[in-house]
Amino acid sequence: MAERNAGRDLGARDDTNDHQDIGRRHFRNRRVFGSGPIPWKVADPPSLCIETVDKNQPGVDNSSMQLSEHFSLKELCRSEVAVRLGIDNTPTDPIIIAKLADVCKYILDPIRAKFGQFTPNSGYRCPQVNAGVGSKPSSQHCKGEAVDFELPSMSNYNLAMWVSDNLDFDQLLLEFAVAGDPHAGWVHCSYIGAGNRMQALTIRKSGTLQGLHA
Ligand SMILES: [Zn+2]
Repeated sequence: MAERNAGRDLGARDDTNDHQDIGRRHFRNRRVFGSGPIPWKVADPPSLCIETVDKNQPGVDNSSMQLSEHFSLKELCRSEVAVRLGIDNTPTDPIIIAKLADVCKYILDPIRAKFGQFTPNSGYRCPQVNAGVGSKPSSQHCKGEAVDFELPSMSNYNLAMWVSDNLDFDQLLLEFAVAGDPHAGWVHCSYIGAGNRMQALTIRKSGTLQGLHA
């Protein structure tokens, strides 16, 4: 697992600004909701998690902080690159921590509830770690707005499709998918609350495609 995650960390070159000029794609019309909105779909404003923010006082060890029902700050900051570089990848900015909590609440928790336990590949990245994985400074990972993940039980395409059909998100990327290899690459998803673009793209070595493609 460590080796696999290290590879994901190193390979995480996604960057939202690379794709902002491609346009938005809205999936709301083909959603498959049953009767009424599911709980995490309720359009409440981004939660600033005051309780979480208040814990982030100078000198307080945040490493055991729980960000949501199922995910901790430690899980969202885990990074093989940070370990290799010998740096602490834990954010101290309460705004970043609050954004990470929203990513957990609105993206990761629903996936966990539907498909079971998993650990995300890469969440927050401090500037040094972000540079270490070859991503641009403008990456949403640096703002606490994005997470990369995959599940052993399903293809990355099917996972991305489920996110597209069921969750609110800013940008959803099927990254470095390879036709015929259901586990190639990973899924990147960001969340910003109000203003979420609902943009879905497929990133391949050969180029970027609008929408999700197997
Ligand atoms: Zn990513």
